[in-house]
Amino acid sequence: MSTQAQTETQEPISILTSEATSLIDSLEELPSVPREWDAWIQRMRPDFSQHRGSLSLETPSHQLVEFEPVGAGQSLKTLTVFLTNRECPWHCLMCDLWKETAPKSVPSGSIPRQLRHALNDLAAADARHLKLYNAGSLFDAGAIPVSDYGAVASQCRRFDRVIVESHPRLIGKRTVLFQELLGTVELEVAMGLETVHPDALSRLNKGMNLDDFRKATEQLRSRGVRIRAFILVKPPFLTDESEALEWACRTIDFAWAAGVDVVSLIPTRAGNGAMEELARRGLFAPPQWSTVEGAFRHGVESRKGLVLMDLWNLDPDVASDSEKFLVRRLSEMNKSQCWVAP
Ligand code: SF4
Repeated sequence: MSTQAQTETQEPISILTSEATSLIDSLEELPSVPREWDAWIQRMRPDFSQHRGSLSLETPSHQLVEFEPVGAGQSLKTLTVFLTNRECPWHCLMCDLWKETAPKSVPSGSIPRQLRHALNDLAAADARHLKLYNAGSLFDAGAIPVSDYGAVASQCRRFDRVIVESHPRLIGKRTVLFQELLGTVELEVAMGLETVHPDALSRLNKGMNLDDFRKATEQLRSRGVRIRAFILVKPPFLTDESEALEWACRTIDFAWAAGVDVVSLIPTRAGNGAMEELARRGLFAPPQWSTVEGAFRHGVESRKGLVLMDLWNLDPDVASDSEKFLVRRLSEMNKSQCWVAP
């Protein structure tokens, strides 16, 4: 780890934004030592032990078929499978993915069976792309046994492209092995870049700095692997909308410079206990849609790659008429890769 990385992970976090000076008191009440901060994040979690213990290890926790944009005006049928496996070893401040993870590592054979179950879905029969998401990293050997890679990869061969998730620090030999097992199927790796705001990134407890992300992208590009970056719009501690927009745009620019092909914008949400506590202290609030749209506009108008706005958490069944209209407009922008004025 570089000197810069050590500094970022070990030094107490100073105040984060010029506008946030009035929040110093509530920020300083939070642990500043990384190990204590990690424990605090986990302590804030609501109890999901019963739900996690009841998850089937033979079927994925969820799956969906959608048309995902692949370029201006073009979409391809994509199957997304949410595999059930053990929790990610990191505990990011904003992460709620642990809710759908098993309490411990799954036995060898479970992941290929989960995938087989998902592929039996007739609606997915003609899907061209497969997203294999596992609430963590496909290259985490404690989550996906390496002995299962062959059985997983062979089931992926009917697709043109497979998109998997990974923490940037887990890019390495297992990535190469999985890519080789895929044969001619194109591999895309999705990694959380989150934000380039140095203090906010450090406080996210991601265990990663920007050098780690750059190194991962270099390795992936040298192997011809496509790269997707998840970017948080308005992460915690960036409480001012215009500042949040500025840092989202800077993060998008960093991603393009690192060679990312697809930017996926995630409006930061609460839902894991820690984020609710930060909201109570005035250190987090979800972004306004104008901020998310501003980031999207910056991304598409820079014309360096595909920009997708994550709409998964907008439930059309409970949305008001104006929200439904907004979702339609945002979906249209995702498809056309053009900014559409409200
Ligand atoms: S690396 Fe990803 S899956 Fe793991 S805790 Fe962070 S956000 Fe969650």
